[in-house]
Amino acid sequence: MANKGQIGVTTENIFPVIKQFLYSDHEIFLRELVANAVDATQKMKALAASGDCKEELGDLKVRLELDEKEKTLRIIDEGIGMTEEEVDRYINQIAFSSAGEFLEKYKDQIGNIIGHFGLGFYSAFMVSKKVTIETLSWKEGAQAVKWSCDGSPAYEMEAIDKKERGTVITLYLDDDSKEYAEKARIEGLLQKYCKFMPVPIVFGKEQEWKDGKYADTDKDKVINSVEPLWTKAPSELKEEDYMDFYRTLYPMNEEPLFYIHLNVDYPFNLTGILYFPKLKDRVAVERNKISLYCNQMFVTDHVENIVPDFMTLLHGVIDSPDIPLNVSRSYLQSDASVKKISTYITKKVADRLESIFKDQREQLEAKWDNLKLFIEYGMLSDEKFCERALKFALLKNTDGKFFSFEEYEKAVAENQTDKDKKKVYLYATKPEEQYAYIQAARDKGYDVLLMDCELDSHYVNLLEQKLTDTRFARVDSDAVENLIPKEEKMKLEMKEDERYDLENLFKAVLPSGNDYFVQGDNLGEDAAPILITQNEFMRRYREMSALGGGMNFYGSMPQSYNITVNMENPMVAKIWADAKAGIAPQAELPAEAPSDASEEEKTKAREARDAVRKAHRADVEAFATGNEILHQIVDLALLANGMLKGKALSDFIARSQGLLMQ
Ligand code: ADP
Repeated sequence: MANKGQIGVTTENIFPVIKQFLYSDHEIFLRELVANAVDATQKMKALAASGDCKEELGDLKVRLELDEKEKTLRIIDEGIGMTEEEVDRYINQIAFSSAGEFLEKYKDQIGNIIGHFGLGFYSAFMVSKKVTIETLSWKEGAQAVKWSCDGSPAYEMEAIDKKERGTVITLYLDDDSKEYAEKARIEGLLQKYCKFMPVPIVFGKEQEWKDGKYADTDKDKVINSVEPLWTKAPSELKEEDYMDFYRTLYPMNEEPLFYIHLNVDYPFNLTGILYFPKLKDRVAVERNKISLYCNQMFVTDHVENIVPDFMTLLHGVIDSPDIPLNVSRSYLQSDASVKKISTYITKKVADRLESIFKDQREQLEAKWDNLKLFIEYGMLSDEKFCERALKFALLKNTDGKFFSFEEYEKAVAENQTDKDKKKVYLYATKPEEQYAYIQAARDKGYDVLLMDCELDSHYVNLLEQKLTDTRFARVDSDAVENLIPKEEKMKLEMKEDERYDLENLFKAVLPSGNDYFVQGDNLGEDAAPILITQNEFMRRYREMSALGGGMNFYGSMPQSYNITVNMENPMVAKIWADAKAGIAPQAELPAEAPSDASEEEKTKAREARDAVRKAHRADVEAFATGNEILHQIVDLALLANGMLKGKALSDFIARSQGLLMQ
């Protein structure tokens, strides 16, 4: 006689609630049911190991059987099974009273936590119109029972004749869930959720190529690897094992640079393997490649609240039963054990990099270009990591030579300390474009670092804060004589009106649209006639605001350049002498209006003075535009800076040809 009853539900019917809230994540039913089967199997093994069960168990497996026609899916285990009383306790009497409330509260992360609230089994109803459990407990003399339920709070329970110990769950898939009656879909889900579960999971048969097509063999197809690499002792493993495992995780990816095997059991339990992938340029690429497991059961590949942000650039697996899954995602970060785990992982990553620095320096240098983005990002975003990284991070110069921070300081301190006792680290961002400046710095015996990574303007700022008495200057931010001023320099004396003339002379032939600050200086006869430089700080802030995305104050300002005119250069000296000789001096300025004059008179007087200035300026500009050598030296300087483009460039070429013909 079948035994009928009501599942202990206070809400009218729990199933619509489950369906509604779990809508987006229906597929996790499979993980939940397989996880239950795996649990029951492991409990059985534990009973055998402890001697409580004397039976010879053999190789226990979990099997899945799909009937595509009947649209049923069976999950079969040889685990501990349940007695009638246990089915009643674990399945019927679940405290559903709080279920509705609970689902409402956690609907966002429900997929991850449902299994942790004793609701795992009921997720079967997300995809089934009817579910049955046939089970025989391992306990001696137990009676096998069958439980069935069609999704209403009413269930049936009856005694059955089942000989094999364990449980068979049968899902009668509902019409909305036909997709789960497809072999490929189930295979995909097993791959996603069950690939590393600790008990062999069998789905279908191995296939072989026979008579021109694939055919099933007699051999069961085990879809998982029951001892994934991270569960093994690091001492037993070789480099190649780690690389093989990486390939199974990410078949499409390039080889990783390095790996770390995490293995800790106190004060929390965590295992895992993390890989440093090759990161060439973009920070945004390839996030969410770390998968979180809980006792070999896949939970999520969103670990952003569990590891520090920069760590999400790593790939690999973390397995920990100590990460609470039954709390909201935003709460995770403030959870004490998650904080400990996060700190531990950061420390391990730093330890590993430090040991690579010490013991495999060549490897570190060889892989540095692909690693530095990760390290710079880590240093910028994580204070603790930064402190550690200052010991193992490398600096690379424009010759491709590497230095630690300590080594670099020693190498350049003598030659590159300025009058204020600050060490000046010179750097280039685009060695091709900045070639002439790099060369000039080298000629002075300076070393030039290469800072061509997209985070480098932020990084340079960070290093200025972290390294004592050190400042960074891009090689083209000033004339080489001024990059590392060794003594107070005498400013070139020039009269106010001369300075004004010099400025107008050059501005007349410089491209419009930028701001220029023109200044005469004595840089020596052999030095270039004109130097175009950009103020280090202005440029850096512009770059940082560009990287930050929005156009803020610095980003929206016009580019501004310093134009240093080398008055000692013979060409400049000639132009300047010609200008002085060829441009009529400015006429005397009319007197200013007396202070008690009317507004009208004052305006008139001001306009009269302005007119004189303007007329003179027009003379200067006329001289400038007519002076081919002036055009030529300005264009050459622009060309050296990659700033001569379009019409200006073709004018330059035409003019050069003309000059060559003279
Ligand atoms: P949870 O697994 O989180 O406890 P479930 O709703 O998935 O919640 O399962 C409730 C209980 O039912 C389990 O704790 C277990 O005791 C029992 N159970 C479920 N599936 C099986 C199974 N295949 N074999 C034996 N017991 C099972």
